[in-house]
Amino acid sequence: MKIYKVGDTSKAVCYTCKAVKPTTFKLRDIPFSDGEGVVKNVIAGVCDACGEVVATPPQSTPSIKKVIEEKRKPVEARVPAHMIDILNCASYELSGTVDFVPTILKFYIHKMSSNDKVVSPSKLQLFLGSELATGKKVKRISIKGGKILQDINTLKGLTKIESTTDIIKSVVLKINNDILTKKNKRVIKQLKDVAASTL
Ligand SMILES: [Zn+2]
Repeated sequence: MKIYKVGDTSKAVCYTCKAVKPTTFKLRDIPFSDGEGVVKNVIAGVCDACGEVVATPPQSTPSIKKVIEEKRKPVEARVPAHMIDILNCASYELSGTVDFVPTILKFYIHKMSSNDKVVSPSKLQLFLGSELATGKKVKRISIKGGKILQDINTLKGLTKIESTTDIIKSVVLKINNDILTKKNKRVIKQLKDVAASTL
């Protein structure tokens, strides 16, 4: 990938001038194609003749994607209060803080959506029939970012669990089973490594 600096020049088709024009790379705010927001201060090719943005170089794509990602709505589910306690206890046990909760959820959902051997989705459905699956849904779990929605949809296909809330509830109960009850050494090791490298 060629990396452009502010001030570098090039040539590109300008749709405003309807011609190939010399361009200069400058910092510009780029609006989303849906019009609902802008990415601020990214390097873009600007037409020297009319001042319009004519191109964004590949190097700007990750910054643009990051903003789109942050704008994306989180996946949410209402759950019984004890499920939050389970997540906090698991997080505390793995990392010494409750800040690790979102990562544990994403780790589990991602691993299971890829049909992982250590964190297998095969018995996920069973947790929904357990006593801990019941209770008044008074708390909210919100998971943001990454490929979470895609992973949840894949997991729905693999487990035949249809609702997002049921997926999240069953994942929480699997975390309870693996980390707090059975203390599965392989999963705990993997998650502790993640915690040590990210927190
Ligand atoms: Zn132009």
